[in-house]
Amino acid sequence: MQEKGTISIHTENIFPIIKKFLYSDNEIFLRELVSNAVDAVQKVKRLSSMGQYSGEIGEGRVEVAFDAEKKTITISDNGLGMTADEIKKYINQIAFSGATEFLEKFKDAKDANELIGKFGLGFYSAFMVADTVEINTLSYQEGAAPARWICDGSTEFEISEGDRTERGTDIILHINAESQEFLDKWKLQEILDKYCKFLPIPVKYGTKTESEEDGVDDEGKPKRKEFEVDNIINNTTPIWTKPPSELNDEDYLNFYRELYPMSEDPLFWIHLNVDFPFNLTGVLYFPKVKQDMDLQRNKIKLFSRQVFITDEVKDVVPEFLMLLHGVLDSPDIPLNVSRSFLQADSNVKKINTYVTRKVADKLSELYKNDRKGYEAKWTDIGMFVKYGMISEEKFYDKAKDFALLSNTKKEYFTLNEYREKVQGMQTDKDGTVVYIYATDPAKQDSFIQSAGKKDYDVLVMDSPIDSHFISQLERKLDKTSLKRVDADVADKLIDKDEKISLVLSDEDKDKVKGIFEKAITNSHMKIEVEALSPGEFPVTVTMDEFMRRMKDMAKLGGGMSFYGAMPDSYKVAINGNHKLMDKILKADEGLQAQLAKQAFDLAMLSQGMLTGAELTEFVSRSIELI
Ligand code: ADP
Ligand code: MG
Repeated sequence: MQEKGTISIHTENIFPIIKKFLYSDNEIFLRELVSNAVDAVQKVKRLSSMGQYSGEIGEGRVEVAFDAEKKTITISDNGLGMTADEIKKYINQIAFSGATEFLEKFKDAKDANELIGKFGLGFYSAFMVADTVEINTLSYQEGAAPARWICDGSTEFEISEGDRTERGTDIILHINAESQEFLDKWKLQEILDKYCKFLPIPVKYGTKTESEEDGVDDEGKPKRKEFEVDNIINNTTPIWTKPPSELNDEDYLNFYRELYPMSEDPLFWIHLNVDFPFNLTGVLYFPKVKQDMDLQRNKIKLFSRQVFITDEVKDVVPEFLMLLHGVLDSPDIPLNVSRSFLQADSNVKKINTYVTRKVADKLSELYKNDRKGYEAKWTDIGMFVKYGMISEEKFYDKAKDFALLSNTKKEYFTLNEYREKVQGMQTDKDGTVVYIYATDPAKQDSFIQSAGKKDYDVLVMDSPIDSHFISQLERKLDKTSLKRVDADVADKLIDKDEKISLVLSDEDKDKVKGIFEKAITNSHMKIEVEALSPGEFPVTVTMDEFMRRMKDMAKLGGGMSFYGAMPDSYKVAINGNHKLMDKILKADEGLQAQLAKQAFDLAMLSQGMLTGAELTEFVSRSIELI
């Protein structure tokens, strides 16, 4: 009994097209064939449990083997098998029911996934790597005859009686000349590890020839078994498939270590599990954020029924959570379609919203249940929370209750707590509460100390995201502005309309100004004699908050090139109430200049701004003075 036929497709030959256009992604043939095998095993199990099949089920099994001499890769399963009629129906016809459409679309297709999924070409992806494909199968149905199908990559196929005696299917690929790289145990191992590591049915992988061979090699040494045939490559019940109640911390940590060997342990994790209105399971981990954030992106792996699909989860999780690690598994994400389609997909949108909400809930729970522990992790968590608050309105609304601000004393406050704390001392004459922050507490120490003398609190805002977070807080919080601690002298940071009077006469004030102007030759230093507390430093160098922000933005390429092009300009605040002024006024001209220069250099020095020749000159002058 032999039958020949033509695969129902109305165009000459589709296989060269598949090969040519899908070449870059051709390794996915293995994913497709192994997942078909897994499907077949699951189907026969289901039939059995529904009482529609009474034969022995045995242990479900999928095997992948290759034979380097015969140049074949074989994918076998003990699933439900196919009858000759089913082959005709499922392999010959179904796959190309959309053939005309396919041929129209392939021109625009960007990757293999797109085509394979959309047109049900899973099985035919075999022709990306094989000249000839054989199916050798025996259906579970009572009295079914074994069937063999063979196709050489043209539209012609041949069906004959097969020789399989056990239920199940072998798919034998005769690897083509361009794809010989796949006849390599490491290459196949790598692909299986990538796509099949968590499949629900055990997948054995090995080679039939090498492991069975005895004797000696060319050099007379005994030939070694390269690797075992029954090497199971997958974990069939990865943790995301289990109920959280069955898992402990160690399970989650072990799974993390399995996914990301060599990584530091994560801070905490979220187990996702929904089945309505979409299906989604997964575990998302919060990693310790590293300096090189780009290396940490795209670490979430997306699965569909335990088959790995991609680690590009853009759109499925919001941008601000792209640094998370872990897995998501959903049969409801259209995994095989292009980017633009994914963005518009309603399930993808719902999943994105769900993930955002779950993350917010988890953070809120951590904050409520263990505030101390939460504070200890804040440096890492803060990255995500701040990014989320900046980029997602909905997340801001939730996070405003558990976002923390920390000050130079390493105390932590929620937004509300902080306002309570500072509004007494830090409200200006117009009723605006001024939050003061340091971006580099070590460098800005003298300013922090001066602010402390006025009973002002100083926040630490030293992460790369903080400049954006500051703007967001100003937008969101009522009557609030933020000022860097060195934006002005402490007495003027918050304008409370409290006048300190100047002990210098107008005449002396002008004299002092003149002396400093002569001593400080740098034209970007604007000299002002101000009435400050006598305990303040005689000279302080500051940069206006607005000007500094604009310049910072220009540095980041934020389109503020006008400010970027401007030279740095500073205010040199001379404390007219400091007793040094008296000394300067009484000194002779030479000493006047020296004292003014010295006081200015000390201010520069305390801010880490004194460098190079100026620093050397300062040191020489200091030696002279002592
Ligand atoms: P899909 O898996 O999306 O249905 P495929 O092209 O991968 O599309 O497979 C087409 C059909 O061929 C399957 O639906 C199934 O009926 C049949 N099939 C493929 N591989 C096997 C197998 N190993 N055992 C039994 N049936 C199979
Ligand atoms: Mg398939």
